[in-house]
Amino acid sequence: MKNLALHWKILIGMVLGIVFGFIMNTVDGGKGFVTDWIKPFGTIFINLLKLIAVPLILASLIKGISDLKDISKIKKMGLRTISIYIGTTLIAIIIGLGIVNIVKPGVGMSPDTIAKIKAKYETDLGVTDKLVKASAQKDAGPLQALVDIFPSNIFQSFVDASMLQIIFFAMFVGISLLLIPEKKAKPLMDFFDSLNEMVMKMVDLIMLFAPYAVFALLANVIIAFDDTEILLKLLAYALCVVGGLILMIGFYLILVAVYTKKSPMWFLKQISPAQLLAFSTSSSAATLPVTMERVEEHLGVDKEVSGFVLPVGATINMDGTSLYQGIAAVFIMQVIWPEGLTFSNQLVIVFTALLASIGSAAVPSAGMVMLVIVLESIGFPEELLPIGLALIFAVDRPLDMCRTTVNVTGDATVSMLVAKSLGKLHDNPKAKDWDDNYDKVK
Ligand code: ASP
Repeated sequence: MKNLALHWKILIGMVLGIVFGFIMNTVDGGKGFVTDWIKPFGTIFINLLKLIAVPLILASLIKGISDLKDISKIKKMGLRTISIYIGTTLIAIIIGLGIVNIVKPGVGMSPDTIAKIKAKYETDLGVTDKLVKASAQKDAGPLQALVDIFPSNIFQSFVDASMLQIIFFAMFVGISLLLIPEKKAKPLMDFFDSLNEMVMKMVDLIMLFAPYAVFALLANVIIAFDDTEILLKLLAYALCVVGGLILMIGFYLILVAVYTKKSPMWFLKQISPAQLLAFSTSSSAATLPVTMERVEEHLGVDKEVSGFVLPVGATINMDGTSLYQGIAAVFIMQVIWPEGLTFSNQLVIVFTALLASIGSAAVPSAGMVMLVIVLESIGFPEELLPIGLALIFAVDRPLDMCRTTVNVTGDATVSMLVAKSLGKLHDNPKAKDWDDNYDKVK
């Protein structure tokens, strides 16, 4: 096990976690055992990743921006990043809508199955909770999302882990550092450089625990599945989402190969630990520190680019989520509101799914909350909303795992494209290990 590559260790942990979860499902008291004694190790791991996310974004972005030495480069990088993010998200939604309209997974679902799903999930806390959260989002004014980017108290932003506010603050600090005399800026720049290096080491140390943590996380996911009959009824829908997500990964690989001239297999191998963690945690925000470490130290993207592109991407670029929202919205309409399936409604979905993926938080099942807003934008009857969500709820967690993997892969791809376009993609990145300096201190 010791010399195995990290992604293999994580994969083995995942497979064992799945097997263990299935075994515990059949044993008396097994679910309770997993909840009480196994799940907490997954929670500890996620907590540790979240713990370092804020200092990491702060340090790498401030360091990156102040290293750019040229404000026009920041503008160039910002514009390129946002336009590519919007472009890839639109492509994801179009792929999703194309698949769901061709396969039509919701057409012909028997009233019996619908009634069964309705009875089981319509009042489920997981469904009602999404509706409450969505209505809170909807009640905000049109410019609230913009206002929310500007913090009035940065410590509050740290406490709330408000990604966009922290990004804004870090950029503000970085640009201001650029504008003061170099001699005065140096101590702070050195401080953030050192902080960045230290947090990156923390990522290496936390990752030593990853294979065990994914075991705990996946065992916990598996014990939540109980009704395999309903799962099978939703198989066509789930396969549409997974198929679309696979196409999206293929699209990223083509972009990487054509634009950066790197081998797709090499790209996948370098980024795979972040993908596997995204899959296990269902959270791009929790995965962010690992994504940054892989992109900088293994893919060769300069800190100046990754420090900006990745935190912004984790917050606003969710190709997997928007693809899923397109498919889920049309699937729900095919089952319970076929009269709403017009071309103009689908055009509205393209636009709202784009905005919804920007607005979705990078945490588990956030995409489903924003799906409510997508549905409302096309006039979906309010009384049918709980049934609509109930329809897709049973398979939402596994699909969330898959779409989060795509979200993270999309961010990594775009960071490579932006880096290449700015001449900031290095050929022989040097990966640092957790024990690089260990001999000297042991
Ligand atoms: N879990 C996803 C993420 O963190 C968001 C979602 O689609 O629910 O990227």
